[in-house]
Amino acid sequence: MNPARTETPATERLRISEIFYSLQGEARTVGFPTVFVRLTGCPLRCGYCDTEYAFYGGQWLALDEILARVREYATRYVTVTGGEPLAQRPCREFLRRLCDQGYEVSLETSGALDIAGIDPRVSIVMDMKTPGSGEEAKNLYANVAHLAKKDQVKFVICDRTDYEWSRDRLKEHRLDQTCEVLFSPCHGQLNPTDLAEWILQDRLPVRMQVQLHKLLWRDARGR
Ligand code: SF4
Repeated sequence: MNPARTETPATERLRISEIFYSLQGEARTVGFPTVFVRLTGCPLRCGYCDTEYAFYGGQWLALDEILARVREYATRYVTVTGGEPLAQRPCREFLRRLCDQGYEVSLETSGALDIAGIDPRVSIVMDMKTPGSGEEAKNLYANVAHLAKKDQVKFVICDRTDYEWSRDRLKEHRLDQTCEVLFSPCHGQLNPTDLAEWILQDRLPVRMQVQLHKLLWRDARGR
């Protein structure tokens, strides 16, 4: 059995799917070399999920061991992702320790779990699940009150219905006045040019993004 499973207190370990080094594919630090720490497990089942392999398995690692592995890459940027990282309680403590060590830390989260109380040095990239994801009902709208300028809300848009839904949520919650808003075309489902035209027609105050890592490496795992 993995020693971290048996010898490390539950508050001091995380189940990790993978740790890898790549270019950030989206959000504010797109293009920067980044260490990704992918946590195992997610309570959602989005129809377009491209990390289903992270739902199960992985390896228990002590927080200190994960920090040591991150350090090997000698980069400023660390992204904690999943799965849904917040589904594992020690994730919050792990984020705090990363910040204490001077990294620029971002957290990718589904928007279905409470983000209150996350270390304010962490840049939160929170999804708002569209109807096309199949998980719209899981959105925890109370999270909007905990977002700040350093954070981002991301809509993955599958079709015109998703676009209009996202536009309505943007206005309803005045998201652009709180943080940066990302509109991203669902890879393989929506033509990015269509999304760009819709955003311009409606003069929306959002940033459109395409996923750089998909352009460079398609769906290769660990990139
Ligand atoms: S929240 Fe993310 S990891 Fe979870 S099912 Fe949806 S896309 Fe996949």
